[in-house]
Amino acid sequence: MASSKKSNGSSSTLLQDNPFVQQSSSSIHRHGLFAKVDISKGTRVIEYVGEKITKKESWHRATQWMEAAKGTDDGSVYIFELNSRHDIDGNVSWNPARYINHSCKPNCETQVIRGHIWIIAIKNIKEGTELSYDYGYDLDHWEEHPCHCGHSKCVGYIVRKDQRKKLKKLIKKRDTKLTGKKKRKKKK
Ligand SMILES: [Zn+2]
Repeated sequence: MASSKKSNGSSSTLLQDNPFVQQSSSSIHRHGLFAKVDISKGTRVIEYVGEKITKKESWHRATQWMEAAKGTDDGSVYIFELNSRHDIDGNVSWNPARYINHSCKPNCETQVIRGHIWIIAIKNIKEGTELSYDYGYDLDHWEEHPCHCGHSKCVGYIVRKDQRKKLKKLIKKRDTKLTGKKKRKKKK
């Protein structure tokens, strides 16, 4: 059960026990996790832990968050798919990995390895660098998730890589609509 996992998780995932990362304030979004040593590609940097919940509960929570986050810039969703029946809700105090920000050009990715979700380095990461991964959001509600990753290839919103072409078209469409309106106003 989730409750028995809770106590295991809290003892093994303390940030000060992790050899690779530390928390600090981030230019991307509030807090972030940073490499406290050089990390080599392929390293399991930190486990993404949380409460194990059913798909039904997961859907319920995600809907609640979306409602609560409307009109704020905090649309973060912390639910991770574990397998076909269960998800992990990482929005818990004993999960420092929840501080890792999204980037359009990330240096980490998530992998499910034998029932555990890991943040894995996908390139060599220099000490002091902020860690990031692709949050993998789909195009629903894209306008509510602006991206501040600061990368030159940033698409401006948190949307997973394979949908960014589509996103660019949507942004273009929206912007022509907006400028179109302005032009009409000027004529009056
Ligand atoms: Zn970005």
